[in-house]
Amino acid sequence: MEVLVIHQFDTVIVGSGGAGLYAALEASKKSKTAVLSKLYPVRSHTGAAQGGISAALGNVEEDKAEWHAFDTVKGGDYLVDQQAAKILTEEAIQAVYDLENRGLPFNRTLEEKIDQRRFGGHTRNFGEGPVKRACYAADRTGHMILQTLYQQCIKNDVSFFDEYQVLDLILEKDVCKGVVVVELATGEMHIFAAKAVLFATGGFGRMFKITSNAYANTGDGPAVCARKGIPIQDMEFFQFHPTGIMGLGILISEAVRGEGGILRNNSGERFMERYSPTLLDLAPRDIVARSIMTEVLDGKGIRGDGKIDDYVYLDATHLGKEVLMKKLPDITDFCKTYLGIDPADKPIPVLPTAHYAMGGIPTDVHGRVLKDKNNTVVEGLYAAGECACVSVHGANRLGTNSLLDLVVFGRRAGQHIAEYVKSATLSEPDASAADAAKAWIGRMTDGREGPHGGHITDEMQTTMMEKVGIYRNEQKMEQAVQEVQELRKRYLNVRVQDSAKSFNTDLLEMIELGNLLDLSLITATAALKRQESRGAHSREDYSERDDDGWLVHSLAYLEGDSVRLDYKPVDTSIWEPKPRTY
Ligand SMILES: Cc1cc2nc3c(=O)[nH]c(=O)nc-3n(C[C@H](O)[C@H](O)[C@H](O)COP(=O)(O)OP(=O)(O)OC[C@H]3O[C@@H](n4cnc5c(N)ncnc54)[C@H](O)[C@@H]3O)c2cc1C
Repeated sequence: MEVLVIHQFDTVIVGSGGAGLYAALEASKKSKTAVLSKLYPVRSHTGAAQGGISAALGNVEEDKAEWHAFDTVKGGDYLVDQQAAKILTEEAIQAVYDLENRGLPFNRTLEEKIDQRRFGGHTRNFGEGPVKRACYAADRTGHMILQTLYQQCIKNDVSFFDEYQVLDLILEKDVCKGVVVVELATGEMHIFAAKAVLFATGGFGRMFKITSNAYANTGDGPAVCARKGIPIQDMEFFQFHPTGIMGLGILISEAVRGEGGILRNNSGERFMERYSPTLLDLAPRDIVARSIMTEVLDGKGIRGDGKIDDYVYLDATHLGKEVLMKKLPDITDFCKTYLGIDPADKPIPVLPTAHYAMGGIPTDVHGRVLKDKNNTVVEGLYAAGECACVSVHGANRLGTNSLLDLVVFGRRAGQHIAEYVKSATLSEPDASAADAAKAWIGRMTDGREGPHGGHITDEMQTTMMEKVGIYRNEQKMEQAVQEVQELRKRYLNVRVQDSAKSFNTDLLEMIELGNLLDLSLITATAALKRQESRGAHSREDYSERDDDGWLVHSLAYLEGDSVRLDYKPVDTSIWEPKPRTY
Protein backbone atom coordinates (compact mmCIF):
# COMPACT_ATOMS: atom_id res chain seq x y z
CA MET A 1 0.00 0.00 0.00
CA GLU A 2 1.50 3.33 -1.09
CA VAL A 3 1.05 6.66 0.60
CA LEU A 4 -0.55 8.73 -2.08
CA VAL A 5 -1.42 12.07 -0.61
CA ILE A 6 0.23 14.43 1.83
CA HIS A 7 -1.92 17.28 3.19
CA GLN A 8 -0.83 20.30 5.20
CA PHE A 9 -2.89 22.03 7.87
CA ASP A 10 -2.12 24.10 10.94
CA THR A 11 -4.59 22.08 12.98
CA VAL A 12 -5.94 18.58 12.53
CA ILE A 13 -8.86 17.51 14.71
CA VAL A 14 -9.51 13.76 14.80
CA GLY A 15 -13.19 13.18 15.55
CA SER A 16 -16.34 15.15 14.87
CA GLY A 17 -18.35 14.54 18.04
CA GLY A 18 -19.13 17.40 20.39
CA ALA A 19 -15.52 17.71 21.59
CA GLY A 20 -13.94 17.69 18.14
CA LEU A 21 -16.43 20.11 16.62
CA TYR A 22 -16.19 22.60 19.47
CA ALA A 23 -12.39 22.53 19.27
CA ALA A 24 -12.58 22.95 15.48
CA LEU A 25 -14.86 25.96 15.84
CA GLU A 26 -12.32 27.72 18.06
CA ALA A 27 -9.16 26.61 16.28
CA SER A 28 -10.54 27.55 12.85
CA LYS A 29 -10.94 31.17 13.90
CA LYS A 30 -7.17 31.57 13.73
CA SER A 31 -5.74 28.53 11.94
CA LYS A 32 -6.25 26.41 8.85
CA THR A 33 -8.19 23.52 10.35
CA ALA A 34 -9.19 20.07 9.14
CA VAL A 35 -11.57 17.67 10.88
CA LEU A 36 -11.02 13.97 10.10
CA SER A 37 -13.77 11.55 11.02
CA LYS A 38 -14.19 7.87 10.34
CA LEU A 39 -17.95 8.49 10.38
CA TYR A 40 -20.06 11.05 8.61
CA PRO A 41 -19.81 13.82 11.27
CA VAL A 42 -23.35 13.89 12.58
CA ARG A 43 -23.31 10.11 13.05
CA SER A 44 -20.85 10.52 15.93
CA HIS A 45 -21.95 9.04 19.25
CA THR A 46 -22.59 12.48 20.73
CA GLY A 47 -25.72 12.40 18.58
CA ALA A 48 -27.04 9.50 20.68
CA ALA A 49 -26.83 11.42 23.97
CA GLN A 50 -30.28 11.72 25.33
CA GLY A 51 -30.78 13.20 28.75
CA GLY A 52 -29.10 16.57 29.02
CA ILE A 53 -26.16 18.84 29.72
CA SER A 54 -25.61 20.18 33.22
CA ALA A 55 -25.10 23.80 34.23
CA ALA A 56 -26.07 25.60 37.43
CA LEU A 57 -28.29 28.13 35.64
CA GLY A 58 -30.75 28.13 38.53
CA ASN A 59 -33.67 28.58 36.12
CA VAL A 60 -36.07 26.30 37.94
CA GLU A 61 -34.56 25.99 41.43
CA GLU A 62 -31.77 27.82 43.24
CA ASP A 63 -28.38 26.49 42.14
CA LYS A 64 -24.68 27.38 42.26
CA ALA A 65 -21.58 26.36 40.28
CA GLU A 66 -19.91 25.56 43.59
CA TRP A 67 -22.58 22.98 44.45
CA HIS A 68 -22.16 21.49 40.99
CA ALA A 69 -18.38 21.26 41.48
CA PHE A 70 -18.82 19.58 44.85
CA ASP A 71 -21.28 17.04 43.44
CA THR A 72 -18.84 16.28 40.62
CA VAL A 73 -15.99 15.68 43.08
CA LYS A 74 -18.08 13.59 45.49
CA GLY A 75 -19.77 11.70 42.64
CA GLY A 76 -16.30 10.85 41.30
CA ASP A 77 -15.43 9.38 44.73
CA TYR A 78 -12.77 12.07 45.26
CA LEU A 79 -10.56 10.95 42.38
CA VAL A 80 -11.52 14.15 40.51
CA ASP A 81 -8.94 16.89 40.05
CA GLN A 82 -10.76 19.62 41.91
CA GLN A 83 -9.50 22.74 40.10
CA ALA A 84 -10.51 21.10 36.81
CA ALA A 85 -13.99 20.43 38.24
CA LYS A 86 -14.19 24.08 39.29
CA ILE A 87 -13.42 25.18 35.72
CA LEU A 88 -15.93 22.68 34.33
CA THR A 89 -18.80 23.87 36.46
CA GLU A 90 -18.03 27.61 36.35
CA GLU A 91 -17.63 27.65 32.57
CA ALA A 92 -20.73 25.47 32.19
CA ILE A 93 -23.09 28.39 32.47
CA GLN A 94 -21.58 30.41 29.61
CA ALA A 95 -21.12 27.22 27.57
CA VAL A 96 -24.85 26.45 27.67
CA TYR A 97 -25.79 30.03 26.77
CA ASP A 98 -23.27 29.91 23.91
CA LEU A 99 -24.96 26.77 22.59
CA GLU A 100 -28.32 28.49 22.91
CA ASN A 101 -27.02 31.55 21.02
CA ARG A 102 -25.64 29.33 18.29
CA GLY A 103 -29.13 27.96 17.74
CA LEU A 104 -29.65 24.96 20.03
CA PRO A 105 -33.41 24.47 20.63
CA PHE A 106 -33.56 23.71 24.37
CA ASN A 107 -36.89 22.86 26.03
CA ARG A 108 -38.32 25.93 27.75
CA THR A 109 -40.03 26.84 31.01
CA LEU A 110 -43.32 28.75 30.94
CA GLU A 111 -41.26 31.97 31.22
CA GLU A 112 -39.28 30.92 28.11
CA LYS A 113 -36.10 30.20 30.07
CA ILE A 114 -34.06 27.03 29.36
CA ASP A 115 -35.88 24.26 31.26
CA GLN A 116 -33.92 22.01 33.64
CA ARG A 117 -34.53 18.58 35.13
CA ARG A 118 -33.05 16.28 37.74
CA PHE A 119 -30.21 13.83 37.17
CA GLY A 120 -28.33 11.41 39.41
CA GLY A 121 -25.95 12.81 42.01
CA HIS A 122 -26.76 16.48 41.27
CA THR A 123 -27.82 18.13 44.52
CA ARG A 124 -28.53 21.42 46.20
CA ASN A 125 -26.41 22.79 49.04
CA PHE A 126 -23.77 20.04 49.17
CA GLY A 127 -26.04 17.01 49.15
CA GLU A 128 -29.27 18.10 50.85
CA GLY A 129 -31.51 16.75 48.08
CA PRO A 130 -31.82 16.56 44.28
CA VAL A 131 -31.67 19.73 42.18
CA LYS A 132 -32.86 20.49 38.64
CA ARG A 133 -29.60 21.17 36.79
CA ALA A 134 -29.77 19.30 33.47
CA CYS A 135 -30.63 21.48 30.44
CA TYR A 136 -32.22 19.42 27.70
CA ALA A 137 -33.80 19.28 24.28
CA ALA A 138 -36.37 16.51 24.84
CA ASP A 139 -34.31 13.27 24.91
CA ARG A 140 -32.25 14.34 21.92
CA THR A 141 -29.85 16.76 23.59
CA GLY A 142 -26.68 15.32 22.01
CA HIS A 143 -28.27 15.23 18.57
CA MET A 144 -29.08 18.92 18.87
CA ILE A 145 -25.58 19.80 20.10
CA LEU A 146 -24.03 17.95 17.19
CA GLN A 147 -26.27 19.54 14.56
CA THR A 148 -25.71 23.00 16.03
CA LEU A 149 -21.92 22.69 16.11
CA TYR A 150 -21.69 21.05 12.70
CA GLN A 151 -23.63 23.88 11.08
CA GLN A 152 -21.37 26.44 12.76
CA CYS A 153 -18.24 24.62 11.55
CA ILE A 154 -19.55 24.56 7.97
CA LYS A 155 -20.28 28.27 8.23
CA ASN A 156 -16.70 28.90 9.44
CA ASP A 157 -15.13 26.98 6.52
CA VAL A 158 -13.63 24.13 8.51
CA SER A 159 -12.37 21.48 6.02
CA PHE A 160 -14.07 18.15 6.67
CA PHE A 161 -12.57 14.83 5.62
CA ASP A 162 -15.47 12.45 6.19
CA GLU A 163 -14.84 8.71 6.40
CA TYR A 164 -11.10 9.04 6.96
CA GLN A 165 -9.82 6.67 9.64
CA VAL A 166 -6.70 7.62 11.60
CA LEU A 167 -4.27 4.73 12.03
CA ASP A 168 -1.24 6.33 13.61
CA LEU A 169 0.24 9.43 15.13
CA ILE A 170 3.50 11.00 13.94
CA LEU A 171 5.78 12.01 16.80
CA GLU A 172 9.31 13.22 16.11
CA LYS A 173 11.51 13.82 19.16
CA ASP A 174 8.35 14.00 21.27
CA VAL A 175 6.80 16.71 19.10
CA CYS A 176 3.60 15.92 17.23
CA LYS A 177 3.91 16.33 13.46
CA GLY A 178 0.67 14.86 12.12
CA VAL A 179 -1.31 11.68 11.58
CA VAL A 180 -1.45 8.71 9.20
CA VAL A 181 -4.90 8.02 7.80
CA VAL A 182 -6.76 5.63 5.50
CA GLU A 183 -9.49 7.02 3.24
CA LEU A 184 -12.37 4.57 3.47
CA ALA A 185 -13.82 5.22 0.01
CA THR A 186 -10.58 4.40 -1.81
CA GLY A 187 -8.41 2.46 0.64
CA GLU A 188 -5.62 5.00 0.01
CA MET A 189 -3.30 6.10 2.74
CA HIS A 190 -2.80 9.78 3.50
CA ILE A 191 -0.45 11.72 5.71
CA PHE A 192 -1.79 14.87 7.29
CA ALA A 193 1.06 17.13 8.37
CA ALA A 194 0.01 19.52 11.12
CA LYS A 195 1.38 21.86 13.77
CA ALA A 196 -1.22 20.61 16.23
CA VAL A 197 -3.32 17.44 16.39
CA LEU A 198 -6.29 16.98 18.72
CA PHE A 199 -7.76 13.56 19.42
CA ALA A 200 -11.50 13.62 20.12
CA THR A 201 -12.23 10.02 19.18
CA GLY A 202 -14.82 9.28 21.89
CA GLY A 203 -15.32 6.21 24.07
CA PHE A 204 -14.61 2.49 23.86
CA GLY A 205 -17.62 0.68 25.30
CA ARG A 206 -17.25 -1.87 22.51
CA MET A 207 -14.69 -3.75 24.60
CA PHE A 208 -17.69 -5.07 26.58
CA LYS A 209 -20.40 -7.50 25.47
CA ILE A 210 -23.37 -5.44 26.60
CA THR A 211 -22.95 -1.74 25.94
CA SER A 212 -24.88 1.41 25.16
CA ASN A 213 -22.09 2.50 22.83
CA ALA A 214 -22.17 2.73 19.05
CA TYR A 215 -20.18 0.25 16.93
CA ALA A 216 -17.64 2.97 16.15
CA ASN A 217 -16.70 3.48 19.83
CA THR A 218 -13.46 1.54 19.70
CA GLY A 219 -10.99 3.85 21.43
CA ASP A 220 -8.78 4.49 18.41
CA GLY A 221 -7.25 7.68 19.82
CA PRO A 222 -6.11 6.29 23.19
CA ALA A 223 -4.88 3.06 21.55
CA VAL A 224 -2.77 4.98 19.02
CA CYS A 225 -1.32 7.11 21.83
CA ALA A 226 -0.63 4.05 24.01
CA ARG A 227 1.39 2.45 21.21
CA LYS A 228 3.45 5.65 21.00
CA GLY A 229 4.47 5.41 24.65
CA ILE A 230 1.91 7.84 26.05
CA PRO A 231 0.35 6.55 29.28
CA ILE A 232 -3.42 6.15 29.56
CA GLN A 233 -4.92 7.41 32.80
CA ASP A 234 -7.42 5.86 35.24
CA MET A 235 -8.49 3.09 32.88
CA GLU A 236 -9.75 0.86 35.68
CA PHE A 237 -12.77 3.15 36.00
CA PHE A 238 -15.44 2.22 33.46
CA GLN A 239 -19.01 3.26 34.09
CA PHE A 240 -21.93 0.84 33.86
CA HIS A 241 -25.13 2.77 33.33
CA PRO A 242 -27.90 1.30 35.51
CA THR A 243 -30.60 1.19 32.87
CA GLY A 244 -29.88 -0.49 29.55
CA ILE A 245 -32.65 -2.42 27.84
CA MET A 246 -32.33 -5.93 29.25
CA GLY A 247 -30.27 -8.19 26.98
CA LEU A 248 -29.54 -5.47 24.41
CA GLY A 249 -27.78 -2.73 26.37
CA ILE A 250 -29.52 0.05 24.45
CA LEU A 251 -29.68 3.02 26.76
CA ILE A 252 -32.77 4.12 28.63
CA SER A 253 -31.72 7.60 29.70
CA GLU A 254 -31.40 8.55 33.35
CA ALA A 255 -33.81 11.33 32.36
CA VAL A 256 -36.59 8.76 32.88
CA ARG A 257 -35.68 8.68 36.57
CA GLY A 258 -35.00 12.45 36.43
CA GLU A 259 -38.63 12.90 35.44
CA GLY A 260 -39.80 10.60 38.25
CA GLY A 261 -39.30 7.01 37.00
CA ILE A 262 -38.79 4.40 39.76
CA LEU A 263 -36.75 1.18 39.89
CA ARG A 264 -38.65 -1.82 41.27
CA ASN A 265 -37.76 -5.43 42.12
CA ASN A 266 -39.94 -8.53 41.76
CA SER A 267 -42.16 -7.63 44.69
CA GLY A 268 -42.72 -4.13 43.29
CA GLU A 269 -40.55 -2.63 46.02
CA ARG A 270 -38.76 0.67 45.37
CA PHE A 271 -35.50 -0.94 46.45
CA MET A 272 -33.33 2.20 46.15
CA GLU A 273 -34.89 3.34 49.44
CA ARG A 274 -32.63 0.79 51.14
CA TYR A 275 -29.44 1.77 49.29
CA SER A 276 -29.74 5.55 49.04
CA PRO A 277 -32.30 7.03 51.44
CA THR A 278 -31.71 10.65 50.37
CA LEU A 279 -31.32 10.49 46.60
CA LEU A 280 -33.19 7.21 45.99
CA ASP A 281 -33.29 6.38 42.27
CA LEU A 282 -31.13 9.44 41.54
CA ALA A 283 -28.03 8.30 43.42
CA PRO A 284 -24.84 8.30 41.29
CA ARG A 285 -24.69 5.59 38.63
CA ASP A 286 -22.08 3.34 40.24
CA ILE A 287 -24.29 3.03 43.32
CA VAL A 288 -27.52 2.40 41.40
CA ALA A 289 -25.86 -0.15 39.06
CA ARG A 290 -24.46 -2.10 42.04
CA SER A 291 -27.82 -1.94 43.83
CA ILE A 292 -29.56 -3.46 40.80
CA MET A 293 -26.99 -6.25 40.57
CA THR A 294 -27.28 -6.95 44.30
CA GLU A 295 -31.07 -7.27 43.99
CA VAL A 296 -30.72 -9.56 41.00
CA LEU A 297 -28.13 -11.80 42.66
CA ASP A 298 -30.25 -11.94 45.85
CA GLY A 299 -33.10 -13.46 43.85
CA LYS A 300 -35.12 -10.24 43.84
CA GLY A 301 -34.91 -9.74 40.09
CA ILE A 302 -38.09 -10.12 38.09
CA ARG A 303 -37.54 -13.81 37.35
CA GLY A 304 -36.11 -14.31 40.83
CA ASP A 305 -33.59 -17.01 39.87
CA GLY A 306 -30.52 -15.11 41.16
CA LYS A 307 -28.80 -15.41 37.78
CA ILE A 308 -26.71 -12.57 36.47
CA ASP A 309 -28.97 -11.93 33.47
CA ASP A 310 -32.13 -11.49 35.50
CA TYR A 311 -33.39 -7.90 35.49
CA VAL A 312 -35.43 -5.24 37.32
CA TYR A 313 -38.17 -2.89 36.20
CA LEU A 314 -37.94 0.81 35.50
CA ASP A 315 -41.45 2.02 36.11
CA ALA A 316 -42.53 5.18 34.26
CA THR A 317 -46.22 4.31 33.96
CA HIS A 318 -47.26 7.00 36.46
CA LEU A 319 -45.64 9.77 34.37
CA GLY A 320 -48.45 9.61 31.87
CA LYS A 321 -48.48 9.62 28.08
CA GLU A 322 -48.26 13.39 27.76
CA VAL A 323 -45.03 13.80 29.79
CA LEU A 324 -43.49 10.79 28.04
CA MET A 325 -44.27 12.18 24.59
CA LYS A 326 -43.14 15.70 25.39
CA LYS A 327 -39.99 14.98 27.38
CA LEU A 328 -38.99 11.41 26.50
CA PRO A 329 -40.26 10.74 22.96
CA ASP A 330 -37.24 8.76 21.72
CA ILE A 331 -37.21 6.54 24.81
CA THR A 332 -40.89 5.82 24.26
CA ASP A 333 -40.09 4.84 20.67
CA PHE A 334 -37.14 2.60 21.71
CA CYS A 335 -39.43 0.69 24.10
CA LYS A 336 -42.01 0.19 21.38
CA THR A 337 -39.43 -0.85 18.77
CA TYR A 338 -37.15 -3.11 20.83
CA LEU A 339 -39.51 -4.40 23.52
CA GLY A 340 -42.94 -4.02 21.97
CA ILE A 341 -44.20 -2.14 25.03
CA ASP A 342 -45.46 1.37 25.68
CA PRO A 343 -43.73 2.73 28.83
CA ALA A 344 -46.96 4.56 29.65
CA ASP A 345 -48.63 1.17 30.13
CA LYS A 346 -45.89 -1.21 31.25
CA PRO A 347 -42.60 -1.02 33.19
CA ILE A 348 -39.34 -1.30 31.21
CA PRO A 349 -37.10 -4.38 31.84
CA VAL A 350 -33.57 -3.02 32.49
CA LEU A 351 -30.06 -4.13 33.46
CA PRO A 352 -26.77 -2.20 33.73
CA THR A 353 -24.91 -1.62 30.44
CA ALA A 354 -21.27 -0.64 29.81
CA HIS A 355 -21.49 3.05 29.09
CA TYR A 356 -18.65 5.49 29.69
CA ALA A 357 -14.87 5.57 30.02
CA MET A 358 -13.79 7.77 32.89
CA GLY A 359 -10.16 7.15 31.91
CA GLY A 360 -8.33 8.18 28.78
CA ILE A 361 -5.45 10.22 27.39
CA PRO A 362 -4.13 12.40 30.23
CA THR A 363 -4.40 16.15 29.61
CA ASP A 364 -4.08 19.45 31.44
CA VAL A 365 -6.96 21.95 31.54
CA HIS A 366 -5.95 23.29 28.09
CA GLY A 367 -6.27 19.85 26.50
CA ARG A 368 -2.49 19.38 26.19
CA VAL A 369 -1.49 15.72 26.38
CA LEU A 370 0.74 14.80 29.34
CA LYS A 371 3.21 11.99 29.09
CA ASP A 372 4.28 11.23 32.66
CA LYS A 373 3.60 11.74 36.34
CA ASN A 374 5.49 15.05 36.24
CA ASN A 375 2.87 16.33 33.78
CA THR A 376 5.39 16.83 30.96
CA VAL A 377 3.51 18.15 27.91
CA VAL A 378 3.75 16.43 24.49
CA GLU A 379 4.18 19.43 22.24
CA GLY A 380 1.51 19.90 19.58
CA LEU A 381 -0.67 17.03 20.83
CA TYR A 382 -4.10 17.62 22.39
CA ALA A 383 -7.07 15.50 23.47
CA ALA A 384 -10.63 16.32 24.56
CA GLY A 385 -13.95 14.63 25.22
CA GLU A 386 -14.52 11.05 26.27
CA CYS A 387 -11.15 9.82 24.95
CA ALA A 388 -9.37 12.27 27.28
CA CYS A 389 -8.93 12.35 31.05
CA VAL A 390 -8.65 15.87 32.52
CA SER A 391 -9.76 14.49 35.12
CA VAL A 392 -13.24 15.83 35.93
CA HIS A 393 -15.04 12.50 36.30
CA GLY A 394 -12.65 10.73 38.66
CA ALA A 395 -13.86 7.24 39.53
CA ASN A 396 -17.47 7.78 38.45
CA ARG A 397 -19.02 10.38 36.13
CA LEU A 398 -22.28 12.11 36.94
CA GLY A 399 -24.95 12.03 34.23
CA THR A 400 -24.96 15.13 31.95
CA ASN A 401 -21.37 16.00 32.88
CA SER A 402 -19.97 14.41 29.71
CA LEU A 403 -21.71 16.67 27.22
CA LEU A 404 -20.54 19.50 29.44
CA ASP A 405 -16.96 18.19 29.42
CA LEU A 406 -17.05 18.15 25.58
CA VAL A 407 -18.07 21.75 25.18
CA VAL A 408 -16.01 23.23 28.03
CA PHE A 409 -12.76 21.37 27.38
CA GLY A 410 -13.26 21.08 23.59
CA ARG A 411 -13.48 24.83 23.52
CA ARG A 412 -10.51 25.39 25.82
CA ALA A 413 -8.35 23.03 23.75
CA GLY A 414 -9.41 24.78 20.51
CA GLN A 415 -8.52 28.14 22.00
CA HIS A 416 -5.12 26.93 23.17
CA ILE A 417 -4.37 25.42 19.77
CA ALA A 418 -5.27 28.68 18.03
CA GLU A 419 -2.49 30.40 20.02
CA TYR A 420 0.00 27.53 19.88
CA VAL A 421 0.01 27.22 16.08
CA LYS A 422 0.99 30.89 15.67
CA SER A 423 4.56 30.13 16.72
CA ALA A 424 4.83 26.42 15.90
CA THR A 425 6.46 25.31 12.66
CA LEU A 426 4.94 23.00 10.08
CA SER A 427 7.35 20.40 8.77
CA GLU A 428 6.55 17.71 6.29
CA PRO A 429 6.92 14.30 7.89
CA ASP A 430 8.98 11.68 6.14
CA ALA A 431 6.88 9.20 4.15
CA SER A 432 8.42 6.50 6.39
CA ALA A 433 6.10 7.88 9.08
CA ALA A 434 3.45 5.61 7.57
CA ASP A 435 5.58 2.44 7.76
CA ALA A 436 4.04 1.02 10.93
CA ALA A 437 0.50 1.52 9.64
CA LYS A 438 1.45 0.00 6.28
CA ALA A 439 2.98 -3.03 7.95
CA TRP A 440 -0.13 -3.52 10.10
CA ILE A 441 -2.51 -3.43 7.15
CA GLY A 442 -0.05 -5.33 4.94
CA ARG A 443 0.01 -8.25 7.38
CA MET A 444 -3.75 -8.56 7.56
CA THR A 445 -4.16 -8.36 3.77
CA ASP A 446 -1.15 -10.42 2.58
CA GLY A 447 -3.45 -13.07 1.09
CA ARG A 448 -2.27 -15.87 3.44
CA GLU A 449 -4.67 -18.14 5.23
CA GLY A 450 -5.55 -17.04 8.70
CA PRO A 451 -8.47 -16.99 11.12
CA HIS A 452 -11.11 -14.31 10.88
CA GLY A 453 -11.11 -11.96 13.88
CA GLY A 454 -14.83 -12.15 14.70
CA HIS A 455 -14.36 -14.82 17.36
CA ILE A 456 -11.62 -12.79 18.99
CA THR A 457 -13.97 -9.81 19.27
CA ASP A 458 -16.60 -11.99 20.83
CA GLU A 459 -14.24 -13.58 23.34
CA MET A 460 -12.70 -10.24 24.30
CA GLN A 461 -16.12 -8.73 24.96
CA THR A 462 -17.25 -11.70 27.03
CA THR A 463 -14.03 -11.76 29.07
CA MET A 464 -14.23 -8.05 29.82
CA MET A 465 -17.94 -8.20 30.68
CA GLU A 466 -17.67 -11.19 33.00
CA LYS A 467 -14.28 -10.59 34.60
CA VAL A 468 -13.75 -6.82 34.55
CA GLY A 469 -17.41 -5.78 34.94
CA ILE A 470 -19.37 -4.29 37.82
CA TYR A 471 -18.01 -6.61 40.53
CA ARG A 472 -14.36 -7.58 40.33
CA ASN A 473 -11.83 -9.71 42.19
CA GLU A 474 -8.21 -10.73 41.84
CA GLN A 475 -8.84 -14.17 40.45
CA LYS A 476 -11.23 -13.02 37.74
CA MET A 477 -9.03 -10.11 36.70
CA GLU A 478 -5.88 -12.22 36.58
CA GLN A 479 -7.72 -14.56 34.24
CA ALA A 480 -8.90 -11.60 32.17
CA VAL A 481 -5.35 -10.28 31.74
CA GLN A 482 -4.14 -13.71 30.61
CA GLU A 483 -7.06 -14.21 28.26
CA VAL A 484 -6.61 -10.83 26.62
CA GLN A 485 -2.87 -11.51 26.24
CA GLU A 486 -3.77 -14.77 24.48
CA LEU A 487 -6.26 -13.00 22.25
CA ARG A 488 -3.62 -10.41 21.31
CA LYS A 489 -1.34 -13.26 20.23
CA ARG A 490 -4.11 -14.82 18.13
CA TYR A 491 -4.80 -11.42 16.61
CA LEU A 492 -1.34 -11.47 15.01
CA ASN A 493 -2.50 -14.31 12.73
CA VAL A 494 -5.80 -12.76 11.74
CA ARG A 495 -6.31 -12.27 8.02
CA VAL A 496 -8.94 -10.10 6.34
CA GLN A 497 -10.99 -12.04 3.85
CA ASP A 498 -12.38 -9.13 1.84
CA SER A 499 -9.78 -7.88 -0.65
CA ALA A 500 -11.73 -4.79 -1.77
CA LYS A 501 -10.00 -1.43 -1.61
CA SER A 502 -13.18 0.61 -1.38
CA PHE A 503 -15.06 0.55 1.95
CA ASN A 504 -13.33 -2.58 3.17
CA THR A 505 -15.23 -2.68 6.44
CA ASP A 506 -13.77 -6.08 7.28
CA LEU A 507 -10.30 -4.52 7.38
CA LEU A 508 -11.50 -1.50 9.33
CA GLU A 509 -13.15 -3.65 11.97
CA MET A 510 -9.96 -5.64 12.39
CA ILE A 511 -8.01 -2.41 12.90
CA GLU A 512 -10.57 -1.39 15.51
CA LEU A 513 -10.28 -4.80 17.16
CA GLY A 514 -6.53 -4.26 17.50
CA ASN A 515 -7.25 -1.00 19.29
CA LEU A 516 -9.84 -2.56 21.60
CA LEU A 517 -7.50 -5.40 22.51
CA ASP A 518 -4.78 -2.95 23.54
CA LEU A 519 -7.23 -0.97 25.66
CA SER A 520 -8.73 -4.12 27.19
CA LEU A 521 -5.28 -5.21 28.32
CA ILE A 522 -4.63 -1.80 29.84
CA THR A 523 -8.05 -1.72 31.55
CA ALA A 524 -7.79 -5.22 33.01
CA THR A 525 -4.23 -4.68 34.25
CA ALA A 526 -4.93 -1.28 35.81
CA ALA A 527 -8.02 -2.77 37.52
CA LEU A 528 -6.08 -5.77 38.81
CA LYS A 529 -3.43 -3.52 40.34
CA ARG A 530 -5.80 -1.16 42.18
CA GLN A 531 -6.42 -2.87 45.50
CA GLU A 532 -9.39 -0.89 46.77
CA SER A 533 -13.00 -0.10 45.82
CA ARG A 534 -13.69 3.42 44.56
CA GLY A 535 -16.50 4.67 42.33
CA ALA A 536 -17.07 2.30 39.45
CA HIS A 537 -14.14 0.07 40.46
CA SER A 538 -15.75 -2.29 42.93
CA ARG A 539 -13.73 -5.20 44.31
CA GLU A 540 -15.12 -8.11 46.30
CA ASP A 541 -11.67 -8.71 47.82
CA TYR A 542 -10.92 -5.06 48.69
CA SER A 543 -14.35 -3.67 49.41
CA GLU A 544 -13.33 -0.38 51.07
CA ARG A 545 -11.99 2.84 49.64
CA ASP A 546 -8.38 3.30 50.77
CA ASP A 547 -7.34 6.94 50.62
CA ASP A 548 -4.00 6.31 52.34
CA GLY A 549 -2.92 3.80 49.73
CA TRP A 550 -4.89 4.66 46.61
CA LEU A 551 -5.93 8.30 46.36
CA VAL A 552 -3.85 8.47 43.17
CA HIS A 553 -4.42 8.54 39.41
CA SER A 554 -3.04 5.55 37.57
CA LEU A 555 -0.92 5.95 34.44
CA ALA A 556 -0.71 2.76 32.36
CA TYR A 557 2.08 2.34 29.82
CA LEU A 558 1.62 -0.32 27.14
CA GLU A 559 4.98 -2.08 26.80
CA GLY A 560 4.84 -4.97 24.35
CA ASP A 561 2.67 -7.71 25.85
CA SER A 562 2.40 -6.17 29.25
CA VAL A 563 1.39 -2.98 30.97
CA ARG A 564 3.50 -0.95 33.40
CA LEU A 565 1.74 1.20 35.97
CA ASP A 566 2.79 4.47 37.46
CA TYR A 567 0.77 6.81 39.67
CA LYS A 568 0.36 10.54 40.25
CA PRO A 569 -1.36 12.58 42.94
CA VAL A 570 -4.99 13.77 42.79
CA ASP A 571 -5.70 17.50 43.20
CA THR A 572 -7.73 17.74 46.43
CA SER A 573 -7.07 21.44 46.97
CA ILE A 574 -10.70 22.43 47.68
CA TRP A 575 -12.49 19.63 49.52
CA GLU A 576 -11.07 17.06 51.88
CA PRO A 577 -12.05 13.52 50.79
CA LYS A 578 -14.90 12.16 52.93
CA PRO A 579 -16.83 8.89 52.90
CA ARG A 580 -19.65 9.02 50.35
CA THR A 581 -23.20 8.80 51.64
CA TYR A 582 -26.31 9.67 49.65
C1 LIG B 1 -26.53 6.28 24.33
C2 LIG B 1 -25.75 7.34 25.04
C3 LIG B 1 -26.40 8.38 25.69
C4 LIG B 1 -25.68 9.37 26.34
N1 LIG B 1 -26.35 10.38 26.97
C5 LIG B 1 -25.65 11.39 27.56
C6 LIG B 1 -26.30 12.50 28.14
O1 LIG B 1 -27.51 12.63 28.09
N2 LIG B 1 -25.55 13.45 28.72
C7 LIG B 1 -24.19 13.38 28.78
O2 LIG B 1 -23.57 14.28 29.33
N3 LIG B 1 -23.54 12.32 28.23
C8 LIG B 1 -24.24 11.34 27.61
N4 LIG B 1 -23.56 10.29 27.04
C9 LIG B 1 -22.09 10.33 26.97
C10 LIG B 1 -21.66 11.28 25.88
O3 LIG B 1 -22.62 11.31 24.86
C11 LIG B 1 -20.33 10.89 25.25
O4 LIG B 1 -19.38 10.72 26.25
C12 LIG B 1 -19.85 11.98 24.32
O5 LIG B 1 -20.84 12.29 23.37
C13 LIG B 1 -18.55 11.64 23.59
O6 LIG B 1 -18.28 12.70 22.71
P1 LIG B 1 -16.89 12.83 21.96
O7 LIG B 1 -16.93 14.13 21.22
O8 LIG B 1 -15.80 12.62 22.92
O9 LIG B 1 -16.87 11.61 20.96
P2 LIG B 1 -17.97 11.00 19.95
O10 LIG B 1 -19.19 11.82 19.87
O11 LIG B 1 -18.09 9.57 20.27
O12 LIG B 1 -17.24 11.15 18.57
C14 LIG B 1 -16.06 10.44 18.25
C15 LIG B 1 -15.60 10.89 16.91
O13 LIG B 1 -14.31 10.36 16.64
C16 LIG B 1 -14.27 9.85 15.34
N5 LIG B 1 -13.26 8.81 15.31
C17 LIG B 1 -13.08 7.79 16.17
N6 LIG B 1 -12.01 7.05 15.81
C18 LIG B 1 -11.51 7.64 14.71
C19 LIG B 1 -10.41 7.35 13.86
N7 LIG B 1 -9.61 6.31 14.05
N8 LIG B 1 -10.20 8.15 12.79
C20 LIG B 1 -11.02 9.21 12.53
N9 LIG B 1 -12.06 9.52 13.31
C21 LIG B 1 -12.29 8.75 14.39
C22 LIG B 1 -15.68 9.38 15.05
O14 LIG B 1 -15.91 9.35 13.66
C23 LIG B 1 -16.50 10.47 15.75
O15 LIG B 1 -16.66 11.56 14.90
C24 LIG B 1 -24.27 9.31 26.37
C25 LIG B 1 -23.61 8.27 25.71
C26 LIG B 1 -24.34 7.30 25.07
C27 LIG B 1 -23.58 6.17 24.42
